Amino acid sequence: MNPQIPLVDLKAQLKEIRDEILDAVTKVIDSTSFVGGAEVAAFEKEFAAFCGVRYAVGVGNGTDALALAMRAAGIGKGDEVIVPANTFIATAEAVTLAGAKVVFCDVDEETFNISPDSLRRSITPKTRTVLPVHLYGRAAPIKEVLEIASKSNIIVIEDCAQAHGAEVGGVKVGGFGLAGCFSFYPGKNLGAYGDGGAVVTNDEAIADKVRRLADHGRQDKYFHACEGVNSRLDAIQAAILRVKLRHLGEWTLRRRAAAARYTELLKSAPVKTPNLGDGGDHVFHLYVILSEKREALVSFLRSKGVGVGIHYPVALHLQPAYSYLGCGKGSLPGAEKSAAGSISLPMFAEITEEQVAYVAAQVKEFFISQK
Ligand SMILES: *Cc1c(COP(=O)(O)O)cnc(C)c1O
Repeated sequence: MNPQIPLVDLKAQLKEIRDEILDAVTKVIDSTSFVGGAEVAAFEKEFAAFCGVRYAVGVGNGTDALALAMRAAGIGKGDEVIVPANTFIATAEAVTLAGAKVVFCDVDEETFNISPDSLRRSITPKTRTVLPVHLYGRAAPIKEVLEIASKSNIIVIEDCAQAHGAEVGGVKVGGFGLAGCFSFYPGKNLGAYGDGGAVVTNDEAIADKVRRLADHGRQDKYFHACEGVNSRLDAIQAAILRVKLRHLGEWTLRRRAAAARYTELLKSAPVKTPNLGDGGDHVFHLYVILSEKREALVSFLRSKGVGVGIHYPVALHLQPAYSYLGCGKGSLPGAEKSAAGSISLPMFAEITEEQVAYVAAQVKEFFISQK
């Protein structure tokens, strides 16, 4: 029998922290304060400190975090927002949700993060914002993005949904742009037991606006200066996130060690392994390799019990949902290359050395079987 190694093993993590989690959840239940309140405020304070920013505002999910940050920054109808085409659809959906127009740009073929050159070429007089995504856990080339944005007078809002704790030059992602947007979807590096998200910022006015927009535009219980939405963080989720935040630093180190081991073991295999980065800039939400034999390799690995994923099989500009933009095949070659060849190998903090070795051995076995 083959071992079964999932892409993400939430059960392995639960085993380590189950008692702490149950204590924290019990406390919230006994408090009967379920939405907002002290637990959410405490998490916001701790998460802001973790990110090295002044404010964090808990919201309902990562997609809302992006949309609310844009709305708080005054982005809406008639504005263009640039989004890399190789990302989860939520990045682009948030633009539409905020009332603005999505413009896709290409990604770098080395890192699959936003390409500064393509960003430059995508700017028009209507461009108000760019949403760099710190994809797979690796910090986007944020210094270049900031420089281009400041020259063109556009706002940077970071999509940090996959990169909790990644840093560039000692500064954590989320602290570079006007705002940074996080998801706490269960499979993310910091995941709740349901949906959750946060907007982090050093700008007090943005933090206040996001908080108001996320809570029915409330200024006071029944005084509404504007219409908002209902997108708040639950106290139970905040309590769970507080427990997990205490472990996140250690979990990130374990992810990096597993990534380094994969790269070492796969040196002799004809696949492109991810650049390991400079130490701090990659938190390995995903460990993504590239192969020209993607479909066959994926089926082989699955047949051997290896839970691989594809992030993402169709670049956003070629999705039916965005056919109205009229982007043709070949228009964003970096994103299309990633879509054609990327494979995500199992990656989670608790993955064992034996599991990593088994997965790497199966990758090599596939290429031997091809000869
Ligand atoms: C998960 C994710 C989101 C959206 O987060 P949700 O909490 O699922 O709404 C946005 N962007 C990226 C890159 C993501 O991976």
